[in-house]
This record gives sequence, C-alpha cells and structure tokens, in this order.
Amino acid sequence: MTQRVNFDAEAFEARQFKVYTHRQLDKIEAIQNLPEALRFDMRVVSQVLPFRVNEYVIDELIDWSNIPGDPVFQLTFPQRGMLKPEHFDEVAELIRRDAPTEVLKPVIERVRSELNPHPAGQMDLNLPLLDGEPLRGMQHKYRETVLFFPSQGQVCHSYCTFCFRWAQFVGDKTLKFASSEADALHRYLAEHTEVTDLLMTGGDPMVMKAKHLRLYLEGLMRRELDHVQDIRLGSKSLTFWPYRFVTDPDAEDILTLFRELTDAGKHVAFMAHFNHWREMETPICREAIRRIRASGAEIRTQAPLLNHINANADDWARMWTTQVRLGMIPYYMFVERDTGARHYFEVPLVRAFEIYRETMQQVPGLARTARGPSMSADPGKVEIQGMTEIHGEKVFVLRFIQGRNADWVQRPFFAKYDATATWLNHLEPALGESRFFYENDFDAMKLQKQALIHKAT
Ligand SMILES: *Cc1c(COP(=O)(O)O)cnc(C)c1O
Repeated sequence: MTQRVNFDAEAFEARQFKVYTHRQLDKIEAIQNLPEALRFDMRVVSQVLPFRVNEYVIDELIDWSNIPGDPVFQLTFPQRGMLKPEHFDEVAELIRRDAPTEVLKPVIERVRSELNPHPAGQMDLNLPLLDGEPLRGMQHKYRETVLFFPSQGQVCHSYCTFCFRWAQFVGDKTLKFASSEADALHRYLAEHTEVTDLLMTGGDPMVMKAKHLRLYLEGLMRRELDHVQDIRLGSKSLTFWPYRFVTDPDAEDILTLFRELTDAGKHVAFMAHFNHWREMETPICREAIRRIRASGAEIRTQAPLLNHINANADDWARMWTTQVRLGMIPYYMFVERDTGARHYFEVPLVRAFEIYRETMQQVPGLARTARGPSMSADPGKVEIQGMTEIHGEKVFVLRFIQGRNADWVQRPFFAKYDATATWLNHLEPALGESRFFYENDFDAMKLQKQALIHKAT
C-alpha cells in the first residue's frame, strides 16, 4: 500500500543543519562586514525578540548586497525599528554599559510584557476541556478545527521577525502550549465528532522527527476518528529547511507517512508559509514542493502582509502566480497581528485592501483563491471586503471568514472608515450602530467560558 515517492536524493547534496541564535549573532560571517551600528542594533533587538537563523537561509535566501532592504534579511534578522524607540534606548543603554544579567533580565522581561505577548484569547478562550480538565497544548476556537501544538515541534528552523508566536520562543514557560499527549489528542477528537480538521502547528511541526509526527498522526486512521478528514500541517519548512523533504535522514519517512494518510482517505493539507516569492527560487525548495505533492498531500499557502517585506502588489502577484505554477494553492492573506514588533510591520487596513485588490487584478483566476486581507482577532477571522459609501457615510465592509459562533460567518457588517486603523479594535460601528452585531453574543460567550475554566482549575 505504501508506494514510495520517487527518491533520487543523489541529485541534491545533503546539508548539515547549522543554526545561529542570539548568542552566536556575532559569529555569523555574513554580517561581519556590515556597519558596526547596524550590528549593535541587532544585538539590542535580539535581546528582546527571538532570533534564530540557519545557514541555508543565510547562504541561499538573503542577497547580502542588498542590506538592510533584502526581504529575507528583514524576515529573519532583527532590525532597530522592531522595538519602539523608548524600549530600544532603554535596552541599548544597558548593553552599552555591559550591564549584568540581573539588571538586564527584568528590563527585557518588562519590555516583552509590554508587547502583547498573547493575542486573540489564546491563553483561555481557546482552551479545550477533556473530562472537565483543561488540555494544554491544544486550542479549539472554531467548531470544525482543532489546533495541536506537539511538544517536539515548538521551535522553528529559523524565526520570523514578525511571528505572532514569538513569546513562546523566548523561554516564557507559561506561554508554551505544547503537548506530548497523542493519547489526549485522540481522545478529545473522538469525543468531538464536529471536528473535521486537525491543524498541527507550533513552532513548526516539521522540525519533529518523522517517528514523532507518526505518533500523532497514525492514530487518526482509526475508525472512531473517521470524522477527522483533513490534516493540516502549518509549516515554514519549505522556506527555512527544504532539505527536510529531500536529504534529511528521515525525509522519506515523512513522505511515506503523508502517502499512508492520503491512501487511507485523509486529506493532508500542507499549509506552507511563504512571505515572498524569493523563498521559492532555490532548486532544493522546488524539489521539496514536488516531493510533497507527489506524496498525495496538497500544499496551500498563507502569509501576512508586512511592511518592509511584501507590502506591494507586484511581489504578491509574483508570489501567488509562482505558487500556482508550482502546484500550490494560495489560501490566506493575513493582516499583521497585534503583537510583538507589529508597529514595524503593520500596514493600514485601507492600504492592505488596496494591495489585495491590485494583486487580484493582475493574476489569473487560479491565483485568486486567497481570502483576505483577514484579521485573526478575538471573535474570529474578519475579512476586509472593501471600502464604500452608504448614504454619504464612508465605511469598511467586513465579514467573518470564521467566527467563534458559526452564525456570525459571512454576514456583511460595517465599520466607520478610518485611514489609519490597522486592527479590528481600532474600528467603530458605522451607520449609527453603537456595537457590532456580534459583540453582545461574544461577551456572553466569554463569561460562560471563563466560568467553565474557573470550575476546571
Ligand atoms: C485560522 C484558524 C483556524 C482555521 O480556520 P479556517 O477558516 O478553517 O482556515 C483554526 N483555528 C484558529 C485558532 C485559527 O486562527
């Protein structure tokens, strides 16, 4: 049953995974020639925000003749503007005078706590309960989809500077959602027949060994989990470590697992995170894409719209058309979330919509499958459908792509036009309404969930 995927690894040389974290920042050869001021900025910012980059990214994805403008450099290396000036100055001062750890650490922790480390109700509202006990390592926000955070997959091959999960990479244990309990996962899913989708996330589930991934996924082929049709793997590995699917020692085991799952009638959706077309230009990345698709898995793509990285329609158009040509399906364009270095990356909602529209206008139909720009906010995923005028009032037209209450989904609603707004909480109801249509309902849900969690803990 387990047909082998064509495996001609000889064509690609295996590569040792070599990674640099903030402690080895100064050892990275490629940055030795950059101006000292720029390197100092990086040192300061990497005290606060997580930094991890591997040699493949440094050698193959970054154009070192275009610093600091290079999009992959911006995507992985700390930049001064990622901290607000007052935060930057405070940490920089301590670094300059070589302050001891006991002085530095509390300052860094305070700065981090001021960066909204856990947005969108991740800590409590999404928490599932099994036998009346909260299940760490899982989130269940939308009826049909459960998020699972396998404990072996809570880092990434490299870190994105804009990552909304940044807080879990800087050692704050209370922010780790990890679970090592395949059994709890399977029991929860068996009890929840409304769940059709399991989304493995992290970190990045593809940093896991194949045998660990198998532990979580093999059990899904049992009869009592027939209702779990779709297995999504949220991953940036095609960008940061495509060798995972080509020359890594267990590359073939991963592809075999995908094949077994698809042969068993599961839909394996590899949710690839790409921010820029440049990430897909290397032969090794293209080979990895080819192999994943040959295993029977589908690849869908998603990315936030980011100032300094991809805030223009031409790059999006080239990214989506490249993806379609390589057999991948564009799925989401996100709005940068309200956490971490968001002030550096955010783009006004008005501009985000214009970029979406200009992109759609210049790509063929097959590349117009991505929804967005979408905000993954507390009540749900809210999409900006456009700006218009109703009886002389300028408004945003919005709708839920996903809602904590399925009844909210796909109902158009309106917010007052605001040229500078960058997130849902900046918006106000339009047309004389005092609250958005979902708000009373959402308040009631929050109270109910808090009572449940309070009872359980
Ligand atoms: C985006 C998201 C999902 C998946 O939503 P789809 O509309 O099915 O893609 C599930 N859970 C959470 C918490 C999400 O943010």
